[in-house]
Amino acid sequence: MVDVAEKSMEELVSLCKRRGFVYPASEIYGGINGFWDYGPLGVALKNAVRDDWWRNMVECPPVGPDGDVLQVVGLDSSIIQNPKTWEASGHVGGFNDPMVDCTESKKRYRADHAWVVGFHGGEEDADSNSSSGVVPEHFYAVVADSKETAIEAAKSEMPKKFAKRVADATAVTAFDQTNLAPDWPRLSPATQTATLTEPRMFNLMFETYVGAIRDEDAKAYLRPETAQGIFLNYKNILDTMRVKVPFGIAQVGKAFRNEVTPRNFIFRSREFEQMEMEWFCHPDDALKWYDFWKHERMRWWKSLGIDEGNLIFRDHDEDELAHYSSACVDVEYRYPFTAPGYGELEGIAHRGCYDLSKHTEHSKQKLEFFDQTNNEKFVPHVIEPASGLTRGVLVLLCEAFTPTPERKGSKYVMNFPARLAPIKVGVFPLVNKDGMPEKANALYMKLREKYVCQYDVKQSIGKRYARMDEAGTPYCVTVDGETNENGNVTIRHRDTAEQEQVHIDRVEEFLGEKLG
Ligand code: ATP
Repeated sequence: MVDVAEKSMEELVSLCKRRGFVYPASEIYGGINGFWDYGPLGVALKNAVRDDWWRNMVECPPVGPDGDVLQVVGLDSSIIQNPKTWEASGHVGGFNDPMVDCTESKKRYRADHAWVVGFHGGEEDADSNSSSGVVPEHFYAVVADSKETAIEAAKSEMPKKFAKRVADATAVTAFDQTNLAPDWPRLSPATQTATLTEPRMFNLMFETYVGAIRDEDAKAYLRPETAQGIFLNYKNILDTMRVKVPFGIAQVGKAFRNEVTPRNFIFRSREFEQMEMEWFCHPDDALKWYDFWKHERMRWWKSLGIDEGNLIFRDHDEDELAHYSSACVDVEYRYPFTAPGYGELEGIAHRGCYDLSKHTEHSKQKLEFFDQTNNEKFVPHVIEPASGLTRGVLVLLCEAFTPTPERKGSKYVMNFPARLAPIKVGVFPLVNKDGMPEKANALYMKLREKYVCQYDVKQSIGKRYARMDEAGTPYCVTVDGETNENGNVTIRHRDTAEQEQVHIDRVEEFLGEKLG
């Protein structure tokens, strides 16, 4: 297996465009930063991840720690809600990121992602400054999602003679530029000089107007997360769906954030999709459920075939937690651009009764639960597994992307798990004559009833296999000279490029065994 750290994002992004996974949005007009379109293969992959999540969350939810099947219902709430929603949730007042601008390069960074890494130069420098006896410090500015990644990136950029001396990480310190001490330079990653402004707060919600008149009263927001639509429907679902605490409400949909620095392909975009579930439970059981969902969510990501070594939990430090939250953990993935560090894929948060209480306060509607068995009324506590669907797609793309320099035809293979692959089977006549197209087409017409198939007659067979390798198609079936002689077709396996002969009448059975 190719280590994810060795994979080139540039090559992956280029393959994604070439094969119709992801295109830059509005490309014919020069694009628009932070927006992406999912092409024919990308939307198929995205739907496959979404459907698997929905199946495992709503249609066939897990069995809980007490052996009971959990109750989770689905929802598709509106993207635009009454703007009071976002006042109650705290997004209007507090959904801010600190940003810094480079006055020279005009580049903009999130201050909590732009790091200054400082380190002591070591003996050579001490010698050159021997008169003062001062060991000068050296500074690097780096954009990275974590302190560890910033230090690694700075180390790889710094001159060799220093790199030797800072192999010991204790010689290196890093600070994000939000709360930088005054005696540290606020360095721009673009210029490596102090050309950054002070951090300014920036609200991430996109605003729009509802109705014909564009005044303050008509102002509304595109939702920055799907979760609040769930809290708004808590009472409706309780009143109409015969659910009892503990239960969950799940939703998949678009979310919008006017990110200061969208980057790393679809990792941080301004329009993206989330898969979120709010689990309503008794306050006394909240920690038990937090622990349950934390492990269940990791189990699910691994079930998509993601290498265990590329996934970790990262518990939030006390000072990272929102004031209402008593615990939060991220599932992180080792992306090629964070390696050897990790970046967020999903957050699992213990939100206490914060959201329901806030909506009660602002809407004056009681959002409680009455437990008839114990004759007890309470505001449920909430455990929230919140993941990015489009970020999940990126993880699957990074995992599957495999350069294959040893293969003759194909430079890359996308080895998705077969059940998530956008195309399951390629069906080809070897040449466009000798009765082969007719036979291949008849086979295709039969197989397409059951599997997503692609029929292709153009170009050499090697080129057709290479296309299917890059699309991640697990099997290709070729009707060739043998088929006319003895009825056998050639089935080619994507992952090994091995070929085997199977009788044309047995192809369906063969695929049934492999693909289900
Ligand atoms: P960050 O701190 O990186 O901005 P967050 O912690 O605010 O992210 P959440 O609000 O917890 O993110 O959102 C839940 C999930 O939604 C994230 O784990 C991520 O997978 C996804 N997500 C959040 N913002 C974006 C974005 N701009 N682009 C793509 N996915 C996103």
